[in-house]
Amino acid sequence: MTSTRVRGGIDLGGTKIQAVVVDTEHRVLGEAREPTPTKGGPADVAAAMAKALRAAADEAGLQPAALERVGVGSPGAVDAGAGTVADARNLPGWTGSFRLGAALSEALGAEIRIGNDVQVATDAEFQLGAGRPYDSIIGVFWGTGVGGGLVLDGRDWLGRGAAGEIGHMVVEIGGARCPCGRRGCMEAYAGRRGMEEEARRLHDAGEYTELFKIMQKKGHDRLKSSVWEHALKDGDAIARRLLDRAVKALGAGIGSAVNLLDVEAVIIGGGLGVRFGEPFRKRIERQTLKHLFVDERPPAIHVAALGDLGGAIGASLLAAGEGEAAATH
Ligand SMILES: [Zn+2]
Repeated sequence: MTSTRVRGGIDLGGTKIQAVVVDTEHRVLGEAREPTPTKGGPADVAAAMAKALRAAADEAGLQPAALERVGVGSPGAVDAGAGTVADARNLPGWTGSFRLGAALSEALGAEIRIGNDVQVATDAEFQLGAGRPYDSIIGVFWGTGVGGGLVLDGRDWLGRGAAGEIGHMVVEIGGARCPCGRRGCMEAYAGRRGMEEEARRLHDAGEYTELFKIMQKKGHDRLKSSVWEHALKDGDAIARRLLDRAVKALGAGIGSAVNLLDVEAVIIGGGLGVRFGEPFRKRIERQTLKHLFVDERPPAIHVAALGDLGGAIGASLLAAGEGEAAATH
């Protein structure tokens, strides 16, 4: 294996597109990010993805066409065989099916492989990150929503294609409205979007919070994880209350999932998970332990070791040669 076999990875997120160029040892040679377009349609998103990958390749001193392959982690319904993505509801105008693989391949001149964003991030932690010591893990990606990925006995568990939706485990029957339209899901309490809706409701009802002032000062149009962190540091009561609520919901959802699957470890990533890091890991662990049916050997709970780049590095694993990725574990 020579170091000239370089590959790309693109993580398509709801707010940003992260691209990396890695070598066969998964070392990052170049990286770049682009904001995810908020207007237009799938073709515009694909163009922004190609731009991010070109910039990452440029940093690595390469042309995109020189890459062996490019892997993509995408939300929505991914058909890896067809290279299509359908119903990526967080992305602008992406309701039908779009041939993302073909669009990127044409723009970049490289072979494209597409997988589910959360599953590739879980695989990255399993193969290269905090999940390395284990055979069975749950990846929990705490960000805009709460995504989940499963590796059981060393193999991805996708169910019939929709497994791992830990964010939609019900933590309160008839509870808060979830962005998915149902009620009482963990994500309704812990997802950044659900937290923002609740903060706005409280603010509109006359409760004092600095959250929206901080958001404006930072020039954002939504309560990004950095805004929550800032407000928490300032001692903002609503930020503290809603994050307490989020931690409790995460504990209930993760504890329930562990009761069902008895995995060895839970890896917590995502924008909020990575930003809040170790102090919140401890808090989530404390809440999780309360719900465990078998107390004696609780799962290890770790913060994702690959941080912000985990999704893109995971996507690059899709671009590895056959059997190569599995051999790294
Ligand atoms: Zn839901």
